[in-house]
Amino acid sequence: MVFYSTRSKDIQAASAEAVLKGIAPDGGLYTPLDFDAMRIDPGDLLGKTAVEISAVVIGRILSDFTPEEMRALIEAAYDGKFETADLTPVVKVGDDYVLELFRGPTSAFKDVALSVLPRLIVASREKLGVKDEIVILTATSGDTGKAALEGFHDVAGTRIVVFYPDGGVSDVQKAQMVTQEGGNVKVCAVRGNFDDAQTGVKNIFADDGQNGWAAASGARLSSANSINIGRLAPQVAYYFKAYCDLVLTGEITLGDKVNFVVPTGNFGDILAGEFARRMGLPVAKLVCASNANNVLTDFINTGVYDRRREFYKTSSPSMDILVSSNLERYLFMSTGGDDALVAELMSDLREKGVYTAPEKLMEVMRAHFSAGCADDQAALCAIGRVWDAFGYLMDTHTAVGWAVMEDFKAREDNGYVNIVLSTASPYKFCRDVLSAISDEKPETGFAAMDRLYAVTGIEIPERLKKLRDMPVRFEDCVDKDAMLDYVKDAVK
Ligand SMILES: *Cc1c(COP(=O)(O)O)cnc(C)c1O
Repeated sequence: MVFYSTRSKDIQAASAEAVLKGIAPDGGLYTPLDFDAMRIDPGDLLGKTAVEISAVVIGRILSDFTPEEMRALIEAAYDGKFETADLTPVVKVGDDYVLELFRGPTSAFKDVALSVLPRLIVASREKLGVKDEIVILTATSGDTGKAALEGFHDVAGTRIVVFYPDGGVSDVQKAQMVTQEGGNVKVCAVRGNFDDAQTGVKNIFADDGQNGWAAASGARLSSANSINIGRLAPQVAYYFKAYCDLVLTGEITLGDKVNFVVPTGNFGDILAGEFARRMGLPVAKLVCASNANNVLTDFINTGVYDRRREFYKTSSPSMDILVSSNLERYLFMSTGGDDALVAELMSDLREKGVYTAPEKLMEVMRAHFSAGCADDQAALCAIGRVWDAFGYLMDTHTAVGWAVMEDFKAREDNGYVNIVLSTASPYKFCRDVLSAISDEKPETGFAAMDRLYAVTGIEIPERLKKLRDMPVRFEDCVDKDAMLDYVKDAVK
């Protein structure tokens, strides 16, 4: 499979190189165009295990790896790490379905991809005969950081630096990161929001691209954010897996279409759904669910992407994003690879903070996407409603998806089954979840964790329970302008 830079189709890479680099040298994102060559018949996957489905799907996208290599890599990546052997179970809640993606080691859906990515990077490094140490730079809105740390800690030949927005993540998320073990990890807060951290990381890549300081120290920068195609590929698998599950339990018939409702921030998870659709999965609508930072809702409905707006800190912090990186890939794919257009729109976004997509592109997009948003109040109400009606406990991000699904059904019920992607355990955001189902709101996340267990009886994930007793290892906090020096120091 050939991957093109979204900003210049002349820049191409095969999968190993695309995974290792993370981002194209011109700042574009490596993206495939020939989805027909990656076609998968869901019928061929029926009866396969989650690991087998992952190996087939990821192998089809990252075709540098042989089926045997991929199979071994995926087996090792997931071995014993998830609570359930089927990795991502589907649960029926009322008339709808929840796809639980949070059963991994850090209790967020990022684990599905970040269990695999370190192994893909190490394997790509070997394939290409690269000797440099791979330094992973990651900006996180809370969940990617921990999942990446968990995936990369003590992986030979790698080092990882994680930046998170100071005060922008939940207590539990912060505790997860600052207690991270491992000799090759660094965690640092940035005074600013997630977009500042993400822009800072992109600028560090650009600076190194121009000045080559990493190579001078025998290192190479790469990314664990969803700008890395190796992050996206593993996420495509669970769309196929969920579909097969519903066919096997007789909820749908092979060939039926389904809707997926996706709580969205960086547009990575939902773009993986679009990959699945283009690869042959019968998807009716991908419903893009945003919180109060509803820049994507407005974009899909109007064609204008405008980040010049207030940034809200919400109770779904992993979706507090105004610059959704992976949308760039969609613009490229939906125009059949119009790199000049994408380069122009991205330059408008950088310089003016706004761009308008051509109406033709928006028509293509609206045929397959629908969009909605839910603020904190709507999301917390949904948690309470679903708990009362069905005894099912959602986290705050999943709740945004649920609330948007309810609106979607009221607005354009297309008659197909709805699957809401559940992206985190309620215990990662226990204060808000507890407040949604009771009158309580304890001071700290850990007090809320105990109370949430007392009120619901739902087991606390083992590793979250243990967190409070672990020593804090990282207390660094820098201004956004100081991120570059911080990384240069870490690389030396
Ligand atoms: C990252 C994240 C999201 C958003 O996913 P994107 O791929 O960035 O759109 C939603 N919910 C949770 C819990 C997350 O960690």
